[in-house]
Amino acid sequence: MLDRSRIEALRTADVPPMGHVIDGRMTPASDGGTMDVLSPLDGRVLTTVAAGTAQDAEHAIRSARAAFDDGRWSGLAPAARKKIMLKWADLVEENALELAVLGVRDNGTEIGMALKAEPLSAAGTIRYYAEALDKIYGEIAPTDPSVLGLVHREPVGVVGAIVPWNFPLMIGAWKFAPALAAGNSVVLKPAETASLTLLRIAELAVEAGVPPGVFNVVTGAGAVVGEAIGMSMDVDVLVFTGSGGVGRRLLEYSARSNLKRVYLELGGKSPNIVFADAPDLMEAVKVSANGIFRNSGQVCVAGSRLLVERSVHDAFVEALANYARDMKVGDPLDPATQAGAVNSQRQLEQNLTFVEEARAAGREVVTGGGRILEETGGYYMAPTIVTGVSPEDRLARDEVFGPVLAVIPFDTEDEAVAIANGTDYGLAAAVWTADLSRAHRMVRAVKAGVVHVNTYGGADATVPLGGVKQSGNGHDKSLHAFDKYLDLKTAWIKL
Ligand code: NAD
Repeated sequence: MLDRSRIEALRTADVPPMGHVIDGRMTPASDGGTMDVLSPLDGRVLTTVAAGTAQDAEHAIRSARAAFDDGRWSGLAPAARKKIMLKWADLVEENALELAVLGVRDNGTEIGMALKAEPLSAAGTIRYYAEALDKIYGEIAPTDPSVLGLVHREPVGVVGAIVPWNFPLMIGAWKFAPALAAGNSVVLKPAETASLTLLRIAELAVEAGVPPGVFNVVTGAGAVVGEAIGMSMDVDVLVFTGSGGVGRRLLEYSARSNLKRVYLELGGKSPNIVFADAPDLMEAVKVSANGIFRNSGQVCVAGSRLLVERSVHDAFVEALANYARDMKVGDPLDPATQAGAVNSQRQLEQNLTFVEEARAAGREVVTGGGRILEETGGYYMAPTIVTGVSPEDRLARDEVFGPVLAVIPFDTEDEAVAIANGTDYGLAAAVWTADLSRAHRMVRAVKAGVVHVNTYGGADATVPLGGVKQSGNGHDKSLHAFDKYLDLKTAWIKL
């Protein structure tokens, strides 16, 4: 799949200016406004997208509502929806490399990861929910025989989806695929710095036969388009992946408008806990490095806090630093690259500020710590490991969303649990141990939506992903995701 010559041809291919996808058509902003799309590979303008207005968001919501109400999608036989979605998944797969390269030029993820995690993962997610959609049944309640209690499951109506820039297709598909499979219409807003592939996948939906108005993508600023979706009286459910600050705003929008249900997938400060009895410490080194440094740390579940049992701390950190130094960081369109570009200048500056604060507090930066490859004009940062971090430091409590690992030693299992649970977040975690009982104890004790054992990351569509505490309140993926997009309705029938 990683055909170098094809990638090189696509690297410089012209990307025409793009509008929103509303009512099945590319549509410019109502006032003609555009936003430059800067490529993180070289800091240059790649193309433009529509700078959406509140009117554009309302236009898309009206289209979605009309499509829902007239039943062109919601009223189709499930088997018919399934057929169209399966065709859509095929089209996404056929265009996978084009989509992956376009996405890399837009957001900087290394191509090896981007291909798998973006179009191929999105195609898999569309297929998963397409196959599941005609296996959803209602219920007959065990009532008194003089009545019949039926529980119907109905699509909620119009779903608003607001997504981030790190994996736009993967995370987007986690939301639009189950929502559409359940018969809803969707209005999706991509992040300002990663819109292009979501616009393309919406065009492919139309090509596959998803009727106009059913899946709309509106680009633009969060505070404009995102707010208009959040405040709409005609959006029934709002699903979001992004930062806690914006998540809070969405809850306010809901309270100030129609009390739409809001499901949030937020950030993390996930603890990766290595006990001295890990079955293979070298494997733990490799997986831990990839668990924080791939996609330049811009992964919601990144293992950004490494908790290491003191007896192996120094040797583990040394091996990890060697591995990190050897990682190939740079041009994300080179298939050998292990970590590509940071998404934006702003994110890079934020990453560097965390490192400077840690240095100023006397923490040791054992490798990395700075911007690299500045001559390219792109935004690259060396994998960075900081030791001697106190659980009270900002670096141990706040999400960096960059390639910066905070290392904290511990002495006992109880101490590891206390440190692991000592932040406001609860998204992911990992435990490395050969002791089966300890592994199970840790899975129970660590407050997180997913606890990996002797591995990190890599879960597929069959299992839910969601956070506890301030990492969120909903789950993407798995059949459980349907619960967000289907309402329960009771029919109570006197016999
Ligand atoms: P962000 O919160 O800044 O933006 C996310 C989306 O919200 C974007 O589309 C943005 O335009 C929109 N937005 C911004 N202001 C808004 C407003 N006032 N009203 C409505 N919408 C608004 O997050 P980001 O920088 O794009 O992504 C990084 C964050 O996402 C990190 O915190 C990361 O952990 C989190 N994330 C979480 C998961 C998960 O599954 N839990 C996955 C990936 C990323």
